[in-house]
Amino acid sequence: MFKVNENYLKLPGSYLFSTIGKKVNAYAQENLDKKIIRLGIGDVTQPLAPVVIEALHKAVDEMGHAETFHGYAPDLGYEFLRKAIVEHDYQARGCKIALDEVFISDGAKSDSGNIGDIFALENKIAVCDPVYPVYVDTNAMAGRTGEYLEETQKWSNVIYMPCTAETNFAPELPSEEPDLIYLCFPNNPTGSTITKKELQKWVDYALKVGAVIIYDAAYEAYITEEEVPHSIYECEGAAACAIEIRSFSKNAGFTGTRLGFTVIPKELKCKGVSLNSLWARRQGTKFNGAPYIVQRAGEAVYSEEGRKQTKEQIAYYMRNAKVICEGLVSAGYTVSGGVNAPYIWLKTPKGMSSWEFFDYLLEQANVVGTPGAGFGPSGEGYFRLTAFGSYENTLEAMERIKRL
Ligand SMILES: *Cc1c(COP(=O)(O)O)cnc(C)c1O
Repeated sequence: MFKVNENYLKLPGSYLFSTIGKKVNAYAQENLDKKIIRLGIGDVTQPLAPVVIEALHKAVDEMGHAETFHGYAPDLGYEFLRKAIVEHDYQARGCKIALDEVFISDGAKSDSGNIGDIFALENKIAVCDPVYPVYVDTNAMAGRTGEYLEETQKWSNVIYMPCTAETNFAPELPSEEPDLIYLCFPNNPTGSTITKKELQKWVDYALKVGAVIIYDAAYEAYITEEEVPHSIYECEGAAACAIEIRSFSKNAGFTGTRLGFTVIPKELKCKGVSLNSLWARRQGTKFNGAPYIVQRAGEAVYSEEGRKQTKEQIAYYMRNAKVICEGLVSAGYTVSGGVNAPYIWLKTPKGMSSWEFFDYLLEQANVVGTPGAGFGPSGEGYFRLTAFGSYENTLEAMERIKRL
């Protein structure tokens, strides 16, 4: 008789977005006259940039002719794309990353979920709380997290690093030594960032205790402040202790097009074994590459026009972020994020729980956001709004909230 992977049975139901969906649908059915504004989604809404569409069309046409047809992509991804990445994302920022240290993929979710494959089961992970759920759930599926404890809403074998107002929504070095440290800056869900100097402390710590940092830089393109690093490799010594994961989803609107990459420096070794070669082996066996047409589209993002056009999209979202931050502050809310990230993290008023505030906002303002508790126990008492809506809807949502 076959057996299932029982680690899956330990996972608490990921009811967050389905619960939100159900509540919103129920409310909408009973209130057909109300216009609901959704600022809960973590998905982009602006269309792909014209240069990206052009590159896609051209690549599609190439696929229709034997002379220019492309089959399986090379293992690491096409060199034209890896070259553009190395040049613009790394060399331009003084980071020495080589072409064969970049692995093209179909996105940061799969890479951050799959990276655990190359690490032993005994490794202990440390995560921020609140956190992007993929890091924890994929480690739970692998059997690395112990048991889920309902009363604390925590796994028994995970080191949680609370990110609250007291810590400026950044994690502090854990007292218990982790083996794998997941960091994401600019952060989803809190929209917080840390400076290069602060990130250097994490790199130094990882080098000291022999840990690997898995650095999710999916929101790198939203950074506006000078002292915030765009890549962990801007920190000294990071090539010996950090893996960086990036995505084209939020910087260029590829959420439905699918493209990302992971950087593993060859210097990053465990007892002489290079993680770069393990990941190459893993991807070579389990992954057959991102589509040629999508990699061409990714290349176009780095062209002069591409950089200009995607910058405009980000500016559009960040204008929304500003509207949300200013609107909330003028309505008396305590707000963070929204400066280097498309997420605004607000303290729920009058001691409301994050779900109470969800209901309140839905019923009184017809605005949908995401309860902070859905991202981890330290998210209780907080609420996330995103800047990914339309400008007009964002303005209207803020007018409604101010009238409450
Ligand atoms: C959106 C997001 C990603 C991007 O995932 P893709 O699979 O590339 O679309 C990665 N990490 C975080 C924290 C995100 O919010």
